[in-house]
Amino acid sequence: MKKYVYLFNEGNSGMKELLGGKGANLAEMTNIGLPVPFGFTISTEACNAYYESGKTLPNEVMDQVLESLNNLQQKTGKTFGDPSNPLLVSVRSGSVFSMPGMMDTILNLGMNDETVEGIAELTQNARFAYDSYRRFIQMFSDVVLDVDVYYFEQLLEETREQKGYSSDPEMTAEDWKEVIEGYKGIVKKHTRKSFPQDPKEQLFLAIDAVFNSWNNQRAIVYRRLNKIPDHLGTAVNIQSMVFGNMGNDSGTGVAFTRDPSTGEKTLYGEYLINAQGEDVVAGIRTPQHISTLKNEMQEVFSQFSETCDRLEQHYRDMQDIEFTVERGKLFILQTRTGKRTAQAAIRIAVEMVTEGIIDKKEALLRVDPDQLNQLLHRRIDDKYERKQLAKGLPASPGAATGQVVFDADEAEVLGSEGKKVILVRPETTPDDIHGIIAAQAVVTTRGGMTSHAAVVARGMGKACICGCESLKIDLRSKQFSVGDTLVKHGDIITIDGASGEIMLGEIPMIEPELSAEFKQLLAWADEERDLGVRANADNPEDSKKAFEFGAGGIGLCRTEHMFMDAKRIPIVQAMILAENYEERITALDQLLPMQQEDFEGIFEAMQDLPVTIRLLDPPLHEFLPDKEELLVEVTKLQITDPQSSQLKEKEQLLKKVRQLDEFNPMLGHRGCRLGMIHPEIYAMQAKAIFYAAAQMLKKGLQIKPEIMIPLVGHVNELRDMRKLVIEAGRQVKEETGVEVAYTVGTMIEIPRAALTADQIAGEADFFSFGTNDLTQTTFGFSRDDAEGKFLQTYIEDKILPENPFAVLDQEGVGLLVEMGVKLGRQTKPELKTGICGEHGGEKDSIDFCYRTGLDYVSCSPYRVPLARLAAAQATIRHGKRNREESIISVM
Ligand code: PEP
Ligand code: MG
Repeated sequence: MKKYVYLFNEGNSGMKELLGGKGANLAEMTNIGLPVPFGFTISTEACNAYYESGKTLPNEVMDQVLESLNNLQQKTGKTFGDPSNPLLVSVRSGSVFSMPGMMDTILNLGMNDETVEGIAELTQNARFAYDSYRRFIQMFSDVVLDVDVYYFEQLLEETREQKGYSSDPEMTAEDWKEVIEGYKGIVKKHTRKSFPQDPKEQLFLAIDAVFNSWNNQRAIVYRRLNKIPDHLGTAVNIQSMVFGNMGNDSGTGVAFTRDPSTGEKTLYGEYLINAQGEDVVAGIRTPQHISTLKNEMQEVFSQFSETCDRLEQHYRDMQDIEFTVERGKLFILQTRTGKRTAQAAIRIAVEMVTEGIIDKKEALLRVDPDQLNQLLHRRIDDKYERKQLAKGLPASPGAATGQVVFDADEAEVLGSEGKKVILVRPETTPDDIHGIIAAQAVVTTRGGMTSHAAVVARGMGKACICGCESLKIDLRSKQFSVGDTLVKHGDIITIDGASGEIMLGEIPMIEPELSAEFKQLLAWADEERDLGVRANADNPEDSKKAFEFGAGGIGLCRTEHMFMDAKRIPIVQAMILAENYEERITALDQLLPMQQEDFEGIFEAMQDLPVTIRLLDPPLHEFLPDKEELLVEVTKLQITDPQSSQLKEKEQLLKKVRQLDEFNPMLGHRGCRLGMIHPEIYAMQAKAIFYAAAQMLKKGLQIKPEIMIPLVGHVNELRDMRKLVIEAGRQVKEETGVEVAYTVGTMIEIPRAALTADQIAGEADFFSFGTNDLTQTTFGFSRDDAEGKFLQTYIEDKILPENPFAVLDQEGVGLLVEMGVKLGRQTKPELKTGICGEHGGEKDSIDFCYRTGLDYVSCSPYRVPLARLAAAQATIRHGKRNREESIISVM
């Protein structure tokens, strides 16, 4: 018979797939002798079996649960439903990857009308017993019986008011008894059944509910966001209860072994005295900093910090630990690898190498390249004198500006319209996840650094401020106030998540810099990686940024962006509108020195590093005014000023725009097809490159430009364009007397080019895979239309696993890349190959590029650090390769 249920002493931390992260760690901690309340875990396989049997628990699973329950009863000496010594348990979900707050938890299960009396007797604390029972009824009804908590809260509030109390602690045992009767009435009314009294029935209903919660809306959204597969299922952990709410010698808390915001090596966390389980995480009461526990419970604190050290050493990573103190005795309820900001991830990885806990390779693998984006965000300019409106807890660093919204749904709607919003809430719950995703940042007035909002925001790299109590929210009139200042829905605020400050209006920000630890990690990445990293940059500023971020060269300089400059566009238009060759040459002669200046700036910024310059790519009509707008102008002039010269000019322009108009511009007259029909344009560009290089050589820089021809589909196109470039080079040499060394290569971005790469390689010194166009043309998707119209639905319905314009489609487009490399190198083994589509800055695509044998990836300057790390990770994962050293070392 298959084993579905494991006692805590039967598992270990290697069994995460089966027991979920939480279950595997509870087992591990039990085995190393930590004070963990005993229990058992129902496996993720049982979850899948539950769904396979049409959402019912198979008999064999039920039998094994009962057997383990017996075992738990023996071990604790307590029995389910026994009023003289009742067993109470918590029932919690736990999937392979941590999904904080996304699935359901039930505490105090096993309470009923009889056991509550027993607990009162045993603890000599009737108030505590009835309070626990009413909490259980509420939680169980919410999670299992689907009765809205609103009804319970309403009743509690009414009772409090009736009695003239202002807070819960004033309620007596008798008061709670009254509330319990009311709660049972609510259950009866909404479910048409009495609240279940049999603990075993409670248990099986709770297990079903946890399994069902795997597919609740917020869990599905969270999985999609974090790319967690749906088939994994969740485990269920059944653990005997300990109570943090038994008086002032009890408490509960959460702590990280290092600061998850900055990475500093210091115990970081918070606790609440006389509180239970979820109170800290839920963020309802604002807890105290862990360091003050030393003063309140000295013994417990030192035992706890020792346990933290031990757990960190054992797992060799920063831990996030939940604990409860029951009448002065410490219990560990959970440990898991702590979620952290990018800044913390880097600092912890680097310091753990220095401390000898992990080696460099492991440190490199510890940091998720995607997270690095966070560090390359702008922050508030220190020169700006801040006028602080309010200050809360600095829960997740980063700065953000946006309109204030108070509702997650609204944040989602405005976010999808491209508006920048900051979600301001009393607290957030897992149901707000879609609003947090859409917002630039989150502010809460309650809750601490480990509250839901803080954990989720840190995970997403969003700025977050918690526990900002001076901010009084009025949800009904959609505004908040701080002292006399009123901030209304839609007003702009700026927040600094690193300091916890909130300010009115928009505030100047500055560009990011790399920290010392970040530089250290990237230096290790460079030692390790066997794949070049270049940048896509079109101007000297971007090139400088790329150089600063460690790019080994420019992999793509798109020359069309240089044409878009306001001063140049009239000349570009004159070139396009030219009626004859002479007119066109006149315009090109004006453009040449401008292009030359740009190239000199880029060469200078990149020092001696290689620079690949692509000749003009987009269809020419992109440089002309919009057809519809022009038509309106012409029509107006025809009515108002029919004899004007302006009308003639506009009519002329409209005629040309119409001539250039295409049905499918992406598949039309663009790329090398421009050079084939108007060779003078490409000749001008090639000359500007050679003049610029000659200038640099004179200055002593070792420039070796790489000239790239776009959108080649047939070898004959490249052959002609190559000849043209060589001729331009010859002319410049003759004029200047300077010999420029250069190469001529091509983009591979049309399927036919990949399929005939052996022929094309005969005319190319290098290939650069333009996977943006290659994805468009392989799928037959026009990117602009697909992303706006159907692609989102395709991804949501899992027709496609990912957006293929963001993550390379390895099975289809990737096959063409592989073929291109293989065929190209058949003809020319030394052929240099790279990628310059968006995928060059995406970690999984980078891994693919390494496996496929590309020499380098090229991405936007801000993604260069990410790519350096991802390239190192790919090299560590797949081992070094024997590609000729000289080719790679220059990148
Ligand atoms: C590409 O097609 O991948 C590419 C880099 O060129 P562009 O995005 O400019 O078309
Ligand atoms: Mg392209």
